[in-house]
Amino acid sequence: MTFFQAPRGTRDIMPGEIGLWQYIEDTAVRIFELYNYHEIRTPLFEQTELFTRSIGSTSDIVEKEMYTFSDRKGRSLTLRPEGTACVVRSFLEHRLDKTDLLTKLFYRGPMFRYERPQLGRFRQFHQIGAECLGSRNPMLDSEMISLGIHLFDDIGLSDLTVKVNSVGCAVCRPVIREQLREFLGDHLEKLCDDCKRRFDKNPLRILDCKKPECQKYTAGLPTLTICQDCGDHFNAVQEYLDAMNINFEVDSHLVRGLEYYTKTAFEIISPDLGAQNAICGGGRYDKLVETMDGPNIPAVGFAFGIERAVMLLQQLSLTGKPYEELTLYIAGTGHQASIQAISLMDELRRGGLRVDTDTAGRSLKAQMKSANKLGAKYVLIMGEGEAEKQVGQLKNMQSGVQETVPLSQVAQALLPGLPCTEEADAEKDKR
Ligand code: AMP
Repeated sequence: MTFFQAPRGTRDIMPGEIGLWQYIEDTAVRIFELYNYHEIRTPLFEQTELFTRSIGSTSDIVEKEMYTFSDRKGRSLTLRPEGTACVVRSFLEHRLDKTDLLTKLFYRGPMFRYERPQLGRFRQFHQIGAECLGSRNPMLDSEMISLGIHLFDDIGLSDLTVKVNSVGCAVCRPVIREQLREFLGDHLEKLCDDCKRRFDKNPLRILDCKKPECQKYTAGLPTLTICQDCGDHFNAVQEYLDAMNINFEVDSHLVRGLEYYTKTAFEIISPDLGAQNAICGGGRYDKLVETMDGPNIPAVGFAFGIERAVMLLQQLSLTGKPYEELTLYIAGTGHQASIQAISLMDELRRGGLRVDTDTAGRSLKAQMKSANKLGAKYVLIMGEGEAEKQVGQLKNMQSGVQETVPLSQVAQALLPGLPCTEEADAEKDKR
């Protein structure tokens, strides 16, 4: 028999793995709070133009990776391929620039890109990211990087390398592009087809090409000349990173796939991720808010992929929050017992205990097996006779000791914090 399969490039996050996801997300939320970031949740789809305009028409994402569709009224919508454009849209729509001088936001959730799936690369993947809007201060670029490193340290990932570069600004970008064209012009015919196209439109992207035939020519590239302002900014970022003892490498070939970056671009990479070695990427985007018809508001941000963080933690044999075991399993037979079981479970669950019972009408023996499998600390056995007398046999699964307990006192027996009645105390003493 063949069943439906999850679409190519997507996957289910199963209960056995979810502990790691929760651990990463909980840690991220805690760290973001330390840096005064607040969570924002935006829709999973947006107007297509939001992405074509912000991410840039020569980017891989806009050229070939977007999930775009028309709704019933013929409006073009796109499943979000990344979070920054969405956050900036929301920032402007809600005029957050009027509320605070500096806006610090973080987000988490699925992103969608029609990429060729491979290890660590999916069509639906999950990012956690942060955006800080409202300042040009290089301190914030360094803070973004340190926030990422702090977060990875706290989840247990430390064998990571930070790479930084400055990709210039509106002033020096045209000069850099010309420099690149001059340097690569003689080899144009030997570059891959993608890079041939990039040569005219956006030659900086050629530096990002992973194909050996292109890397052969980009390898000897001299350092590109950024303007004084970008140079000063980049020096300051490095000074701040040094002040926090963050190790980093300057990688003059680091350009990011998204076109909106200006000045600082960075990546955090791991040697254990294979070909897709970046766990985190980010940078400054001082012109994006303006590109979206907003005021001249500079910003900086980053995002990391949860799937890749999970992969690394699994390589370290970390499993995250373990499944908590059941405190009590009620093994009962007969209708009367089921009525008493459902009422008792309700009371115990409201008291904060993990409790479950059989709903398949199985034999007591089969139910005891289930209790064992679920790791129940106690089992309350309720046959027809016990149910009638409103009692059960409470068995401590570790010691094997079993005793008759009135149903009204099971909670007291299991919840040491509950106030005990004198009657219950006396009953306990008798036992
Ligand atoms: P980007 O939004 O392209 O700057 O990517 C930031 C981070 O998101 C990367 O470093 C990855 O960890 C993650 N990421 C990006 N694309 C994918 C993908 N297709 N599958 C899994 N993770 C991804």
